[in-house]
Amino acid sequence: MNFENKRAAGIKSSPSMAIAMAAKKLIAEGRDIIDLSLGEPDFEPPAHVAEAACEAIRQGRVRYGVPAGMESLRQAIVSKFKTENQLNYAADEVMVANGAKQILFDVFLATLELGDEVIIPTPCWVSYGDIVSLHGGDPVYVSCGPEVGFKIDPERLEASITSKTRWLLLNSPSNPTGAIYSAQEYRGLAEVLARHPQVLVLSDEIYEHILLREAPFISFASACPELRERTLIVNGVSKAYAMTGWRVGYAAGPKALIASLNKMQSQSVTSVSTVAQAAALAALTGDQAFVAKAARTFADRAKIMSQRLAGIEGIDFTPPEGAFYAFIGVGKLFGRKLSGEVVVDDTTFAAHLLQQFGLSSVPGAAFGAPGFIRLSIAASERELERACERLASMVRSLK
Ligand code: PLP
Repeated sequence: MNFENKRAAGIKSSPSMAIAMAAKKLIAEGRDIIDLSLGEPDFEPPAHVAEAACEAIRQGRVRYGVPAGMESLRQAIVSKFKTENQLNYAADEVMVANGAKQILFDVFLATLELGDEVIIPTPCWVSYGDIVSLHGGDPVYVSCGPEVGFKIDPERLEASITSKTRWLLLNSPSNPTGAIYSAQEYRGLAEVLARHPQVLVLSDEIYEHILLREAPFISFASACPELRERTLIVNGVSKAYAMTGWRVGYAAGPKALIASLNKMQSQSVTSVSTVAQAAALAALTGDQAFVAKAARTFADRAKIMSQRLAGIEGIDFTPPEGAFYAFIGVGKLFGRKLSGEVVVDDTTFAAHLLQQFGLSSVPGAAFGAPGFIRLSIAASERELERACERLASMVRSLK
C-alpha cells in the first residue's frame, strides 16, 4: 500500500544518514570500516552542560516549555549575538527550536506558497532542497564550483532571481566545502538583493565557530545591516559545543517572522525539551574555552588532511576555511577501472571506497555537486591518516 503523498514521495531520506547507516551495518558485521560520513564532533560537550541538564531534572523543571524557548535561554542568545556578532536583537526577535534543521521546517512551512522558489547555491548541505520541496517550494540550485570558491557571486545571484523567488539560502562556513564568505562578498550580494525587495535571506551560520585557517567569520546580518529586516540567522549548539543529540538550534530575525515561526512550533512540537534547553543555556553562558579548543583541534586535523591529500595524485582538494569536512574532487578519475568495473561517477566511487577499501564517505551528488566526495574530519588524527591511506590505495588501484 502506498502511504505517502506526492510531497513525501518526492524526497529521499537524508543521504548522509543513509550512508552512515550502511557503514554501521558493515561495522556490525565485523568489517574494519572508517566511517567519515557523518558531520558530528567526536568528543563530549563540556561537563557543565550535562550537569545543568541533570540539575533541571532534579529540580523538576520538566514541564512543557513555551514555543519560543525559555526566557533565560533567549536572553543568552540575545547576548551571544551582541558580543560575538555585534548584532542587537530583542528577546522576541529570537527563538529556539529542535536543532537548526527544525528552524528550516518552521521557516518554509510558515512562508512558502506553492511554487515559490528558494535559491540554493551548490555544493550545499544535503537537506536544504528536500526540506524546501516538502513544503511545496521549488529549490533553484545554482552551481558554484571551485572556480568561484564554491560561493555564489552577484552575477549568478542576479541571473537566478525571478518574480517567484522567496528566499536565498546561504551557508557560511559551508557544509560541505568549508568556504567562508567575506564581508565584501556579502555586500556584493546585498547590492543585488537591494533591487529585489521580495527576496528574503536565510543565513545558516551553524559552523560559525569552527574556523580552520585565517579567514574570519562574519554574520550576514552584520555585513549587511540594511537587510536586517529581510534576514533570518540560523545557528545552534550542535557543532560549536558538540551537542548534536541535544537538538537545540536558534534563530534571529524580524519580530513578525519570529512570531510566525513560534506559531509553527506551538502547533507542532510545543517546545524544545526543557532539559535540553537548560543544557544549551549552560553551554552559551558557561566557560567558552571549549569552543576555541575544539576549533583548534579541528584546525590541526584539517592541516593533517591537507598534507596527506596533497600527496594523492589525481584528486583535487581545496583546504577548507571552516566547518569540519574535506571536499575532494575525484572527477578526473572517472572512466578508470577497479577490479574490471568502470568507476563512472562519485556515487560508484564512494561505493567502491566503502566496500573494497573500508572508508565511508558521502558522494558529492548528495550536495548537488557530482564529481566530489566528502570526508568528515571529525575523527582522531590517526583515523584520518588511515583514511587517507585507504583513499590513496583506491586511487592507486584505478587503472
Ligand atoms: N545546517 C548545516 C549546514 C548542517 O551541516 C547541519 C547538520 O549537519 C545543520 C544545519 C543541522 O544542525 P542541527 O543539529 O542544529 O539541526
